[in-house]
Formats: sequence, C-alpha cells, structure tokens
Amino acid sequence: MKTYKVDENGYYGEFGGAYIPEILYKCVENLKNEYLKVLESQEFKEKYDQLLRDYVGRPSPLYLAHRLSEKYGCKIYLKREDLNHTGAHKINNTVGQILLARKMGKTRIIAETGAGQHGVATATVCALMNMECVVYMGKTDVERQHINVEKMKMLGATVVPVTSGNMTLKDATNEAIRDWCSHPSNTFYIIGSTVGPHPYPDMVARLQSVISEEIKKQLLEQEGRDYPDYLMACVGGGSNAAGTIYHYIDDQRVKIVLAEAGGKGIDSGYTAATIQRGKLGIIHGSRTLVMQTEDGQIVEPYSISAGLDYPGIGPIHANLSAQHRATVLAVNDDQALESAFELTRLEGIIPALESAHALGALAKMHFKPTDVVVLTVSGRGDKDIETYLKYSENK
Ligand SMILES: *Cc1c(COP(=O)(O)O)cnc(C)c1O
Repeated sequence: MKTYKVDENGYYGEFGGAYIPEILYKCVENLKNEYLKVLESQEFKEKYDQLLRDYVGRPSPLYLAHRLSEKYGCKIYLKREDLNHTGAHKINNTVGQILLARKMGKTRIIAETGAGQHGVATATVCALMNMECVVYMGKTDVERQHINVEKMKMLGATVVPVTSGNMTLKDATNEAIRDWCSHPSNTFYIIGSTVGPHPYPDMVARLQSVISEEIKKQLLEQEGRDYPDYLMACVGGGSNAAGTIYHYIDDQRVKIVLAEAGGKGIDSGYTAATIQRGKLGIIHGSRTLVMQTEDGQIVEPYSISAGLDYPGIGPIHANLSAQHRATVLAVNDDQALESAFELTRLEGIIPALESAHALGALAKMHFKPTDVVVLTVSGRGDKDIETYLKYSENK
C-alpha cells in the first residue's frame, strides 16, 4: 500500500534525509537506532502517558463549536491544544524527547526557539526533570519576545542571544547545531517541530500523534464514526499538523487542509508561505522546500505570527503537497487577525495567532452541511494580546 509516512531511509518521497556535518554523524545514527526502540517500549509509554495525563492535562477536549459551525455551514470540531500546560501543543513533544534523552543517558539539553514557545516548553520539562537547559534565541527575538525569555530564565534555563545573521530563528538553529557538534556525547538537542535531520521529523510527528489518536476516540464517541471529512491545521515547521493527521494520513476518506502564513500576500515579498514560494534545497539537515534566493541563500520569511515564520517546512508536508494528498492554503495576516476575533466572539476562545491561520482557511473552503471538520487550535492567544489590541485599535 502507498504510504505517506517516512521510509526506512528517512525520506518522504524526495524530501527529508539527514544532511549533517560528519562530526554529528555518530550522534544522529545513535538517535536513529534508539528512538523507535525507546518510543515503543512499555516503560516509555507508561511514563509518557502518565505525564501527558497528569502534567499536560490530556486528553485535550474535542469541542463541537456550534456557532462557528453555523457560520460555515458544516459541523466544526475544535481540537483544544490551547488548553495544554504551557498553552500549546509543543509540550507533547518536549515531554517525549526529554524522557528519551534521559533513557539515552544524556545530561544536558539544548534547544532553539523563535517566538520562545518551544523554548518555554523545553525549559519547563528541564525544570521538571532537573536537567541543565540552554536555549538559543536570535537577539532580535529575545527583544521581541521578552515575556517568554523571562519565563525561561525563571524556569532555570540559560538563554543565549544569537547575534549572527538576521538574529532570528534560522540563526538560533545554526548556533544550536554548532553547540551540539561541540558536545555530542552528553548533549541532547530537543528540536521543536517536524524539521531537522532524520529521525527528528518522524520522532516529533510520533510524539504529536497523540492528537489524532485522541481525535479518533473522541469522534467515535461524539459522531459515531472515527474519522472526519476534513482535518485542518496551521503549518510553521509542521508539528501540530503532523500530529493532527498522523493516524489518518493514509486514509483517503479524510481530506487534509494545511494553512501556511501568507504574510502580506504570497507575491508581496513579505510571506512565510514556504510550500507555495519555496524551492527544493537543504535546511538544517533536511532536504525540503526552502525560501531562498537564486543563489540558494535563505530568505528571511515574514508573518505577523512569530511561530509560523520558519524558512523551511517539514519534509512530511512538502511531500503531502507534492503528491496532492494535502491542500495547502496561504492565509494572510489580516485574514488571520479577523479569524482570531471571529472565534473569540463566536465561541469565547481567544486562539494563538498561529492557530488563527487555520481558522482563516475556513472561509476559503466550500463545505456541505453534512461535512465533519476537525480543526486544531494549536495554542492560546494570551501571548498575542498586544498584537490583537493594536489591530482592533486601527480598525
Ligand atoms: C510553534 C507553534 C506553531 C507552529 O509550529 P508547528 O510545528 O507548525 O506546529 C503553531 N501554533 C502554536 C500555538 C505554536 O506555538
């Protein structure tokens, strides 16, 4: 049977692989050989499930949004990742990776972060497990995301401001990789999305797949069938989307809709619509679509949402798009802002700006009244209140 999951060499079609410096080869090989054994062991599963339940607060509800459904003429369920501890889906992944790191005997954790959400989720589990934590963050982002920097410090992490390049996520990631190369034996690099060299994209997708595992059970209870007609999610690097679709990826009854950040418009030069605007290249150890110049230099992406402006895209999603398994829609800043207010006023839920991009895709769809749609609300909007305030003042 045709599958859209990773193959034994770490590829999704022509995307993926592990393009890494020689010094990391042993480290990545070791991880590749260990991760499935650990993730599938009874000991890991028990600890992971217990933490997801008692610490993260899972299962997250699957909520039938009545007024939103009425507006779009179908049945819309929201998968409420915004209700997790630390306010987003990212904690599902960091809990899993730190358990793996401990099992592999690592004593030091490093991470990269853009908006700071993954940094906070990593610092949180490091506090929980009493492990040293170093978070690399572009200096520009350190200044833009002050509250998250303070949270990470309070949690006991060292935040290293990165001053190379544009001083944003791409530069922070380069710096984290450099650190890993210098301390390969004791350090575990917790990557925050379905990006990086194999096995990271597959590992992160598996750790987030608890989302679709729960959707299956919850839909069966509430709807009498365990699959929806549509799954919708936003994509930055692609982890909340990968978790949302994981158990349905080869089920052709289920249509997949991915929302990427259009920014000011995909032809404006200010966009993070990597799937539509990117070209095949290599970024952070993975062969995927990359926003780049004619000479292959990475172009800084733009989105109003800090969590969506990654210049690459998870190889799993690049392949879903290339194979026409997923529909990819670009949702611009203003559409996302409008959708955030719409959800707030219709349902009393203030979504993260990232999640608002998935909501913005609803207006671009044509649903039948019988369609069952599951849309993942990847995070809550507390961190975005200032942006929302500015928007409503200027309206
Ligand atoms: C980080 C983040 C995203 C984007 O990351 P993915 O890996 O694409 O899921 C989306 N929503 C929220 C709330 C985030 O914090």
